[in-house]
Amino acid sequence: MEISSSLLTPRKTTRQIKLGSVLVGGDAPISVQSMTTTKTANVDGTLQQIYALSAAGADIVRCTCNEQEAAEGLAQIVPRSPVPIVADIHFHVEMALAALEAGVHGLRLNPGNLRKPEEIKLVAREAKDRGVPIRIGVNAGSLHPDLYAKYGGATPEALVESAQVELNYFREVDFDDVKISVKASSVALMIAAYRLASETFDYPLHLGVTEAGPLPGGLLKGTAGIGTLLAEGIGDTIRYSLTADPVEEAKAGRQLLESLGLRERKGLDLIACPSCGRAEVDVIAVANAAQAALQDRNLPFQVAVMGCVVNGPGEARHADLGIAAGRKRGHLFIRGQIVRVVPEDEMVDALVAEAEKLLEEGIEARLEKRDRSAEAEAEADRLALLDAKGDDANHATERISEIRRRLADER
Ligand code: SF4
Repeated sequence: MEISSSLLTPRKTTRQIKLGSVLVGGDAPISVQSMTTTKTANVDGTLQQIYALSAAGADIVRCTCNEQEAAEGLAQIVPRSPVPIVADIHFHVEMALAALEAGVHGLRLNPGNLRKPEEIKLVAREAKDRGVPIRIGVNAGSLHPDLYAKYGGATPEALVESAQVELNYFREVDFDDVKISVKASSVALMIAAYRLASETFDYPLHLGVTEAGPLPGGLLKGTAGIGTLLAEGIGDTIRYSLTADPVEEAKAGRQLLESLGLRERKGLDLIACPSCGRAEVDVIAVANAAQAALQDRNLPFQVAVMGCVVNGPGEARHADLGIAAGRKRGHLFIRGQIVRVVPEDEMVDALVAEAEKLLEEGIEARLEKRDRSAEAEAEADRLALLDAKGDDANHATERISEIRRRLADER
């Protein structure tokens, strides 16, 4: 059972825009974005990455359009892409026009980079004629120098005013097919800037902590910033900016939305107890083995790995499927009900096999097919463990030696 997103602050209503087949803003699902790292002129390599990003959960993919060859690449990429393509324009108005000509579904303009009003209005007019939305992508690190001077730095007010100035140019040519981002690498600054942007505009907001860095710190910063805002009802589309394979960005975006109940679960949610002195198994090893075996199978389940049968099935009764260790055996449970007891060294295989059957047959059918004696066996193991007192009831000495041996082998 997912914790409902209705427990979060209701999402702020924004206008809705359309990038190809994907709606952003209004009541559209919050979308996940990522950006390719290939040279856009490398059409096959870029398409391969776009397909990988789409499979990992990206709804929209951005590609750089920094040179004529990139624009020519986009013209071939766009019709073959499984998701809408946004072109990132850096400094040159010609590249914005070439990307539009290539048929992209969206543009990203950085007001700090493309500064001449006539050029900005020219791009907006072209985008309007083609029905292509533009993201006003403000970045604290490349804020217009005038605003930097006016506010004494990249403050939330300065970031929001930068977006406002760009919007004013757009309005002069009657263009408002827009979403806005006010990113910063400081999580606190980014949160404050987006809060102010949400009060100021009703355009959809694209959330991100820019230059968040490598894993795991980048993931933490992205989650702190994006997750905080989503919980406050702010944000219509998100991107993790990680110094990593962009597939990690797409996976993280998707997982964050699923964990908040903001998108339907498509992938695995593996939960595991942190282990403690009562653990009957090396929980870290079993959880890692289960994660490795299950993660690429597109199983839309919450799966629990619990260290002991004394507390495990009860504490994880909300999980669709789980396994708990006890007395050298694995106790397999579905929604808290024990369905089978297997030898400890078959725990992970049994979990994978049951997960696949659960996908094919559904929860009710699998519960119906449970081993009717399993519940009593598990209860006997549970009581025996509760009764066992004092003399190393958890076989801790043996298990510590096992873990030490494994660590020594890994070194
Ligand atoms: S499930 Fe058992 S082993 Fe895991 S933390 Fe709880 S009591 Fe400890």
